[in-house]
Amino acid sequence: MSTSVDDCLFCKIVAGDVPAEIVHSTEHTVAFRDINAQAPLHVLVVPKDHYANAAALAAGDPATSAELVTTAAAVATAEGYDDYRLLFNTGEGAGQVVFHVHLHVLAGRSFGWPPG
Ligand code: 5GP
Ligand code: ZN
Repeated sequence: MSTSVDDCLFCKIVAGDVPAEIVHSTEHTVAFRDINAQAPLHVLVVPKDHYANAAALAAGDPATSAELVTTAAAVATAEGYDDYRLLFNTGEGAGQVVFHVHLHVLAGRSFGWPPG
């Protein structure tokens, strides 16, 4: 399924209409550096097609849902990190501000547990 949302920031990054530092791309995903990095490595991995959140992607395109994770691992490895944190924020109350699903890949510092 290919759904483009005209006012979606990450659809625009995927289309090349908004600049981003792209570090990796696959058939169905694009990975780019977060503009407001929270760790030495902070990359967002998104599907090229528009889905609002991780659950919608997993239900609608499970293969691409898995590809987000394998892409995230490839990015961490390429940047020299064995240990990293993967995170999906889902819903405003959990901190989601961009409603095009994105997997945060964070590495290079210690992370607290449980998360704050
Ligand atoms: P969320 O809070 O929705 O899980 O994460 C959205 C992320 O997108 C934030 O970490 C934020 O810094 C990042 N972000 C917002 N606008 C842009 C942008 O224009 N370019 C890039 N590369 N990242 C962005
Ligand atoms: Zn989108």
